[in-house]
Amino acid sequence: MERTQLMQIDDAVNAWLETLDEIIPKLINDMVTTTKQNRFDLVTNVDKTIQQHFERFLNQHFPSHQLFAEEKLNNDINAKQGHVWIMDPIDGTTNLVKQQEDYCIILGYFVNGEPVLSYIYDYPHGQLYKAIKGYGAYVNGKTLHEPEMLELKDAIVSYNPLVINDATISDLNAATFGYRCIGSCGLDSMRVVKGQFGAHVNTNPKPWDIAAQFLFASELGLKMTSLNNEPLDFSTAGPFIISNKGCHADMLAILNAGDGYKKY
Ligand code: NAP
Ligand code: CA
Ligand code: CA
Repeated sequence: MERTQLMQIDDAVNAWLETLDEIIPKLINDMVTTTKQNRFDLVTNVDKTIQQHFERFLNQHFPSHQLFAEEKLNNDINAKQGHVWIMDPIDGTTNLVKQQEDYCIILGYFVNGEPVLSYIYDYPHGQLYKAIKGYGAYVNGKTLHEPEMLELKDAIVSYNPLVINDATISDLNAATFGYRCIGSCGLDSMRVVKGQFGAHVNTNPKPWDIAAQFLFASELGLKMTSLNNEPLDFSTAGPFIISNKGCHADMLAILNAGDGYKKY
């Protein structure tokens, strides 16, 4: 895709993201929370309305582009064909509901199966992370550089302990410097992108949880693979790690040792 065309799309998306600064406070003020599959599976008017806004934006500015997003059915979309946006309108909904902090909007733009633009908007902290294929990654317009090599013994790592068995957690504790988890796959991944965490693991992400991370990883020399060290299919997702180059092999070795990482 031509650089000018990419930059035009980027300008339009930036302008759309700016509109969120007005919309989100009002939505939070009138927040209505409902549950989906169980009492921990939350969705709010904030998630739904942001997604509807983006859908309207695409229809108006880029009518040939398709939206593949969490709060809709995506049965009619082949994510690997044409112009496709994958969106998590709020990643970290539990954090939004319980803390009004540590949630983000995730957007990944794919052209015929290739990621070309990615955004993670950390609205509460006013940080917009962006990656452009072939042109690097930025936070609020400032260039992000490839993080320094981190060895696992010096690294903080992030994962959800509810889904990993005790033996594996104990091995991870012994091999790493420490554990932290923000509770937003997008923001935990950005900690790896900035060199603050050595790795983030999610054993069951959907396409929208990891749509933006592909481009950040490729632009910044990070590893992003399945937990079997295989390439990830963005259209189906599945067990995933985003990692500093210095931690990836050791993390996978620990997760796959013995009976593996699964809790049950
Ligand atoms: P949470 O705060 O609800 O979610 C933390 C992060 O994980 C968010 O990015 C969230 O995206 C995503 N997420 C939510 N449900 C998930 C699921 N079933 N599988 C994978 N990722 C998920 O997390 P929690 O309160 O600790 O846990 C809530 C439920 O999600 C539990 O059943 C937990 O086992 C499961 N979970 C599993 C993993 C995993 O690695 N397999 C990771 C996190 C949570 P949204 O905010 O967009 O939902
Ligand atoms: Ca999510
Ligand atoms: Ca979500």
